[in-house]
Amino acid sequence: MKTIGLIGGMSWESTVTYYRLINEAVQKRLGGVHSARILMHSFDFEDIAALQRAGNWAECDATIARAGQGLVEAGADVLLICTNTMHLCVSALEKAVQVPVLHIADPLGEAIVAEGLSRVGLLGTKFTMERPEVLKGRLTSRFDLDILTPDGDDADEVHRIIFAELCCGRFLEPSRARLAAIIAGLAAQGAQGVILGCTEIPLLVTAGDAAVPLFDTTALHAAAAAAFALEEG
Ligand code: GLU
Repeated sequence: MKTIGLIGGMSWESTVTYYRLINEAVQKRLGGVHSARILMHSFDFEDIAALQRAGNWAECDATIARAGQGLVEAGADVLLICTNTMHLCVSALEKAVQVPVLHIADPLGEAIVAEGLSRVGLLGTKFTMERPEVLKGRLTSRFDLDILTPDGDDADEVHRIIFAELCCGRFLEPSRARLAAIIAGLAAQGAQGVILGCTEIPLLVTAGDAAVPLFDTTALHAAAAAAFALEEG
């Protein structure tokens, strides 16, 4: 079994889910008291969020690359950035290390295509909803998907709920209802499914909150990591 390096803590609320899901998948496959080989670099998320707010993506790149190098030196065979937004730094990370980096968009795109969908909504931070380098570009170019995002107040509110509530461990009913309404709005505009493109959103919103399929980026990314670690060869 390969050793998985998690670049996490962004926020720790969702990194806990990665840790649990990867271990559960390995235990299910290998049985007994097996668990995953995992190394983790867990940031103080305020350090990262401050760089994001300042638009200092060069420093984000350098910070994520250093974390990845540390994990590889410690023995990681594969790396994951445990957040959608920070895939803005995936190219810098890939340049800094010799091991594979599992991109969060790839298992996501495969899952959407496997459902036979071509037009999906996307909820995430404003960085994720606006900047094609996070998810949208890869989903369009590699998987031929059409992506719809909320705009105006809805986009502001999704971003606010993520940073002011979910990343602080606050899971509130009015916010769940608001996200469910935004999902319904995207479906009304033609989205056949909706991507939960922020690793904390699945902690609040689940399948029962939507009439269309939801794609949980945390669960899909964690499953891809476990499968990679268990691959022969
Ligand atoms: N975990 C979130 C994501 O998946 C937001 C935190 C961040 O800005 O990295 O995008």
